[in-house]
Amino acid sequence: MGFFERKPSAMPEQTESATAVPEPTESGAQVIAFANQKGGVAKTTTTLNLAAAFGEKGHRVLCIDMDPQGNLTMSQGIDPDSLEVSMYDVLSTQIGRERSLEKALAPIKQDYDFICIDTPPSLGLLTINALTAADKVIVPVQCEYLSMRGLIQLQNTMSMIRENLNPEVQIEGILPTLVDTRTVHAKEAIELLEENFGDRVFASRITKTVRFAEAPVKGMSVLKYDPDGKAAYAYRQLAREVLENGKR
Ligand code: ADP
Ligand code: MG
Repeated sequence: MGFFERKPSAMPEQTESATAVPEPTESGAQVIAFANQKGGVAKTTTTLNLAAAFGEKGHRVLCIDMDPQGNLTMSQGIDPDSLEVSMYDVLSTQIGRERSLEKALAPIKQDYDFICIDTPPSLGLLTINALTAADKVIVPVQCEYLSMRGLIQLQNTMSMIRENLNPEVQIEGILPTLVDTRTVHAKEAIELLEENFGDRVFASRITKTVRFAEAPVKGMSVLKYDPDGKAAYAYRQLAREVLENGKR
């Protein structure tokens, strides 16, 4: 579990160069948690690549790896075992355990535009800390094995968090991931999502591509690994959607 920063990319961004970087707001960074208690739905991939897309647009982004497995940290080429200070140090307090992350972020919120928190595949204390610290939650769902039950469980957890810990937290959107455009099943899964969650399903779709397996091995986001590929484009599109929603 670790902290790391994505500095606004120095890489020239062909299509977005005219995008103005917004002034930092008084309340500081928007905190986005990426949650779904199911593993393998692209939480970590989405945290990293959406953060990279914000960075490309010139936003200041902090990524937080709340998963003890440390996949997000490793996907940036950082060995979690080599870190002197980690999220363990943030979370070692016993009192007010659900608010440890929120408290740790308060003094640094002004330094960022976005704080992106990856969570483990469970609704335990680590995820509760993330949801308590968050303004918004993005829920990646794998369209191959769509779990409506899982989504309802997450909604119940969110209600519990709103009642007890963080009244303002909202689901920003549900993101269809690992979409295999060739199958009828994927199409049906997306339709089912839209029937149940309406416009809370993002218009962006993350299709399946081997690039997502290749990039972390190189310690890179897909945006850096294959900047002109479909996968990079899809996450830039998602960044645009989140930024647009923020203006509503
Ligand atoms: P989670 O964090 O929810 O467990 P990951 O982000 O680790 O999920 O993704 C699970 C696996 O799926 C990883 O091996 C990742 O590289 C792969 N993956 C993620 N998104 C895609 C995609 N769009 N196409 C193909 N593989 C993907
Ligand atoms: Mg993960």
